[in-house]
Amino acid sequence: MDLGVGNTFLEVDLGKIKANLNRIRGHIGEGCEVMPVLKANAAGMGFEGMGHFMADECSVRIVAVAQVFEAVKLREAGVDCKILVMGGVPYGNVHAAVEHGIHMPVFNREFAVLVNDEAKSQGNKVKLHTKMETGMNRIGVKPGRDLDRLVDYLKGLAGIEVVGVYSHLVESQAADKSFSHHQHGLFKEALSQLDSKGIEPRYIHLCNSAATVWFKEAHYTHVRPGRLVYGIDPNGDEKNGLGLEFPVKWYAFVTNLKEIEAGETVGYNRFFKANRSMKVATLSFGYGDGYNRNLVLKGGHVLINGKRAKFLDMCMDQSFVDVTAIEDVKLNDRAVLLGSDGEEEINLLDFSAMLGEGYMNAMAGIGGRVRRIYR
Ligand SMILES: *Cc1c(COP(=O)(O)O)cnc(C)c1O
Repeated sequence: MDLGVGNTFLEVDLGKIKANLNRIRGHIGEGCEVMPVLKANAAGMGFEGMGHFMADECSVRIVAVAQVFEAVKLREAGVDCKILVMGGVPYGNVHAAVEHGIHMPVFNREFAVLVNDEAKSQGNKVKLHTKMETGMNRIGVKPGRDLDRLVDYLKGLAGIEVVGVYSHLVESQAADKSFSHHQHGLFKEALSQLDSKGIEPRYIHLCNSAATVWFKEAHYTHVRPGRLVYGIDPNGDEKNGLGLEFPVKWYAFVTNLKEIEAGETVGYNRFFKANRSMKVATLSFGYGDGYNRNLVLKGGHVLINGKRAKFLDMCMDQSFVDVTAIEDVKLNDRAVLLGSDGEEEINLLDFSAMLGEGYMNAMAGIGGRVRRIYR
């Protein structure tokens, strides 16, 4: 059954994703590859669809996700590039990860033994990336004695192969770059330790989006941007030096139009009270789609026929906007929740400000039943 665009849909312009990848490639130059980060559901754009597109149409050879669950979903969707899980892996996920040939981080013996045993029992060899602790104190092994011991130990495990080494910068967006340089110093120590033990990882990666832009000397074999790929330069909007484009528009539909009189109310518990006669449009989405009802109180709006229509209230699956001043609005017209419409625009920063969240959270929160349409 073709459900078409559903009640509400995100339209993702794949040409812009590809162009963003190519702009990043132009910036990092030959000898370094992009490992796009598909976390937060690829910034809400749908990680399976985006993974497919990047592997099939953009020559991406490795992507990064947060969890084994996501990696397995990508495999099931037929994405056949390499996949790295970046975060710590609960033991119950190891079997599936090994079965699907997923790259995982390693930073302690216990996990290495577990993976090694699983690899042996499946007759597989598992590729691991040594995760370095350089300042986040989340997951990782410190350079120096700890790394030495771990690497010596890993060498004795026939079921695993160390193919990568990485770390994560904790304040790469800050104006003061000194801690990033400090972390890079520790990372370099780790690289020379690995080198002295005869390990030459094919995947050496430190830079997230912000650092991909400014930290050229830390690019190594791969950069690991999330936001840049999705058209967002976290170094600040005005610093979008790579000319990246945000590829998403979010739409819903007008399902009803009505005139109400002064004194009538709208929504549950008579939430909105009209003090004049007005024209109200009902829209085909609600907070069940990942929108935040709080923005109703904050004067949030959508765009209809290129004009701003303020929310009056929002239910789980439907919402109400004031279209008194929009003359030509018709049943089944599109409402733009995010993106431009005529002269008006709700850009990502306005949108996340309305939702009162960071823009990645705002995008990641867009619900599963919002259809993703790729063009
Ligand atoms: C989220 C994340 C990234 C990508 O972050 P962006 O700032 O979106 O580029 C890269 N590496 C790790 C370990 C991450 O958690």
